[in-house]
Amino acid sequence: MSTIFTQIVEGEIPARIVYEDETTVAFLDANPLAPGHTLVIPKDEYERLNDVPGDVATDLYATIHRLVPAVEESVDADASTVAFNNGEAAGQEVPHVHCHIVPRFEGDGGGPIHGVAGEAPDLADDELDGIADDIESRI
Ligand code: AMP
Repeated sequence: MSTIFTQIVEGEIPARIVYEDETTVAFLDANPLAPGHTLVIPKDEYERLNDVPGDVATDLYATIHRLVPAVEESVDADASTVAFNNGEAAGQEVPHVHCHIVPRFEGDGGGPIHGVAGEAPDLADDELDGIADDIESRI
């Protein structure tokens, strides 16, 4: 069963497509958080960011890079929040990698991305050192 975004790529369901190339496509979110809320996806179906092959990830970032100023300018936004919900526990509902470009406006009542993870942990220096070492060792 293909994802709803693959169905958009295949032209099986309608979408307001604003950009398309060989490997990526961008379209308006059907339930926008702000005017101009746009999703950027790889055409092929990958569930999470780490499933995306490097060359496709490069294409995906290039499309995001092109789309962000176009989206902001189209709705005269002051800024944008650009983010992935990467996995179900992070709020990802559609299991097909997608980048949200959400235009932001002075006084729009929204918050920064710092609010997404619940209560911030109080981590000691040695815990932070351990986490940093652990991440570094996995690269
Ligand atoms: P996420 O929670 O990160 O998986 O976000 C999924 C997003 O896809 C939501 O913002 C939905 O509004 C959006 N969405 C779901 N179905 C469609 C669709 N058919 N066309 C455009 N956007 C959609």
